[in-house]
Amino acid sequence: MSLLEMKQIKKEFEGTTVIKDLSLSVEEGEVLAIIGPSGSGKSTLLRCATMLETIDDGEILYQGKKAVWIENGNPTFPKKQELKEIQSCFGLVFQNFNLFPHFSVIKNIADAPIHVQKRNREEVYEEAKKLLAKMGLSDKAEAYPYQLSGGQQQRVSIARALAMKPKMLFFDEPTSALDPELTGEILKVIKDLASEHMTMVIVTHEMDFARKVADKIIFMENGVIAVEGNPEEVFASDHGRMREFLGKLS
Ligand code: ADP
Ligand code: MG
Repeated sequence: MSLLEMKQIKKEFEGTTVIKDLSLSVEEGEVLAIIGPSGSGKSTLLRCATMLETIDDGEILYQGKKAVWIENGNPTFPKKQELKEIQSCFGLVFQNFNLFPHFSVIKNIADAPIHVQKRNREEVYEEAKKLLAKMGLSDKAEAYPYQLSGGQQQRVSIARALAMKPKMLFFDEPTSALDPELTGEILKVIKDLASEHMTMVIVTHEMDFARKVADKIIFMENGVIAVEGNPEEVFASDHGRMREFLGKLS
């Protein structure tokens, strides 16, 4: 059974269709990279998958359970408890870190497990410390986000997502707000997660990284999947718009 299935998704903004009849699935342990030009619908796709946006057609399932579907023309969700369980399947890491500026690093990580998941406070803090150590940030537990570099902030936001014990992680251009010298440290963290078989969907412009880490790559254009396959297949594709896109990046 797929961990995530998106079936014939459509998303409109004010009458403009930005995702068209798009279907994809992600298997457990798989790393999916999504590439494509600006405005092609990559972020919208992640926001739909993580239920930050509603869909206008189609359905989304996590582990075979419907997370959202259309009934009488309206997006429909499961009951509160089931929805909560489904939402705890995934975490999302944003381009701009989105840390709480007035919380210390450790509080940023521990807050949702304690208040949303109602887990034991001591246990959560112990785990948060381990996650910080894993991210190489043991000495930053009491620091505030503004005292950290962009790369450190992004590592905190990855730790924050992991603290919820998700089955999969979504990343929306996790390095594009970073200076080039800080990009590598984030890509390494994601690579390490891949080697631990974390299921991930990563929107990225880092083509070498996508080629090395992804099991599957999707090239999006105007709200549809224009090319998909394993890295070898995708980078060998002669799809005109994709070649043009890759050419512009290099
Ligand atoms: P990408 O992440 O590939 O750059 P986006 O998913 O952000 O693309 O955007 C896809 C299209 O949807 C763009 O044309 C964008 O302007 C439009 N769009 C995205 N979010 C909104 C919104 N909240 N309201 C209206 N239009 C939006
Ligand atoms: Mg985007």
